[in-house]
Amino acid sequence: MNHSDLIIIGAGPGGYETAVAAAHRGLSVTIFEGANVGGTCLNAGCIPTKCLVRNAEVVEQFKDSEKFGIDNFTFELDFNKVMSRKDEVVATLRAGVEQLLASAKVNVVKERASFTGPHTVKAGETEYEADNIILATGSVSKALPIPGADLPFVMDSTAMLSIDHIPESLTVVGGGVIGMEFASVFHALGSKVTVVEYMKQILPPFDADIAKRLKQSLSKQGIEIITGAAVKEISQAEDYEIVTRYECKGKEGEVRSSDLLMAVGRAPYWEGLNLEAAGFRELPAKGRPIPVDDYMRTEVPHIFAIGDVNGRMMLAHVATFQGLRALNAITGKEDTIDFGIVPSAVFTHPECGMVGLTEQQCKDRELPVKKGTSFFRANGKALAMAEPEGICKLLFHKETGLLLGAHIMGAEAADLAQQCADLMSRKTTQAELEDIIFSHPTISEVILSAAHSAS
Ligand code: FAD
Ligand code: NAD
Repeated sequence: MNHSDLIIIGAGPGGYETAVAAAHRGLSVTIFEGANVGGTCLNAGCIPTKCLVRNAEVVEQFKDSEKFGIDNFTFELDFNKVMSRKDEVVATLRAGVEQLLASAKVNVVKERASFTGPHTVKAGETEYEADNIILATGSVSKALPIPGADLPFVMDSTAMLSIDHIPESLTVVGGGVIGMEFASVFHALGSKVTVVEYMKQILPPFDADIAKRLKQSLSKQGIEIITGAAVKEISQAEDYEIVTRYECKGKEGEVRSSDLLMAVGRAPYWEGLNLEAAGFRELPAKGRPIPVDDYMRTEVPHIFAIGDVNGRMMLAHVATFQGLRALNAITGKEDTIDFGIVPSAVFTHPECGMVGLTEQQCKDRELPVKKGTSFFRANGKALAMAEPEGICKLLFHKETGLLLGAHIMGAEAADLAQQCADLMSRKTTQAELEDIIFSHPTISEVILSAAHSAS
């Protein structure tokens, strides 16, 4: 039987990054992948969506050309080329991951794996054995349990990433991260977009101020956003239009469109792993996360579950760092990873970024807070870039001065949130932040201005 120190099932950003890190620590590693290395993130998530986001930005710049003194500029968009560019980027990065795994001498088995015993898995006709096993099998799109959700024209994000046309009109069911990114992209590419979101605000986990401003900004651009509306049924009219019926504040409404994206969350995926054979006594229900402790250890002590499959926080960088934590536990290495400081971003136009606690979370925890706000319209670089729309809100602990949270909408918001994550991980106070020299003119100066204004 093939023996390795470590078996990893799933080669997404959780699995492949952990495999390489484990190999660098001297472990022999076998990783199984039933589809493409890179997982959802590289093949049907982070990377292809951000290629489309970049296309949308370029198109918006072209549409705005007069603002930059370029008159009578015309252009034609070739959507096939847009999609080919995306596919090329994905293929290049996928080759990079293959190369990374090969140079680290990780044994890559391109087959689905399932347990035959607590230390053994089978892929094809071959059995493999390891001392420790990490599950990194990711997640799949959820569908609403409503009539019409299974009709063939209902797309999830993966299907939408292979679409061969720009929809004339697009209904987006779910105003979460995926829904808002696709809404922003396809609006820029020319679709008439309507978002129907169940909660009172789009992007429910984001700070309410940021979600509200993003809604205002996207509505001003022409995206229709209906919040507090539960989608109840999807059907097709005689003229082939897709009809999405919803209930909002006790009243029924409908949206008609040529295409529909359902983006109502993702479910942890562990089907076919045969967890019973591995010794799991309590199996989660289908689509529910595999429970883990803070070291990502499952109920079977030598089996760990990282990334989307444990449902803690479905982000690529979280999957990677959970993998490192599991590896630290396996190799007995001291661990200083702080999962309380995880930056996240939404690549709409304008972009949003956040890290740490929202204002509501501070209230719920009864934390005394000093709030500082700055606006992109007062930032020289933002105006020079013709990106005046945006806000940076920083929350400091009133007594200790520690930075508790940063919430940003505007150009480069994702990178600004990353900068704030750095400050938070160094336990920076308001006073210390105000002593840092910021280069001028930079968008980063919105952070300094927000700190100056906090009281
Ligand atoms: P995955 O990346 O899902 O990888 C799991 C892998 O396991 C898959 O390749 C699968 O084929 C394989 N597998 C499953 N079962 C088996 C088996 N039995 N045997 C062998 N292989 C198996 N996150 C961000 O941080 N930033 C973003 O901008 C971002 N954008 C996104 C956009 C979209 C449209 C989507 C859908 C997601 C996005 N995400 C983003 C989320 C991110 O993609 C996931 O959080 C991340 O991919 C999770 O990584 P993972 O390693 O846990 O699982
Ligand atoms: P999500 O949980 O972010 O959003 C789903 C939305 O659907 C929610 O706002 C929910 O209220 C809404 N909804 C549920 N039922 C509804 C109904 N009946 N009618 C209308 N709306 C309804 O999930 P997602 O957008 O599918 O994204 C899945 C995961 O992928 C997220 O956890 C996210 O972290 C990850 N992701 C991250 C990024 C990024 O980091 N930029 C990008 C895309 C996806």
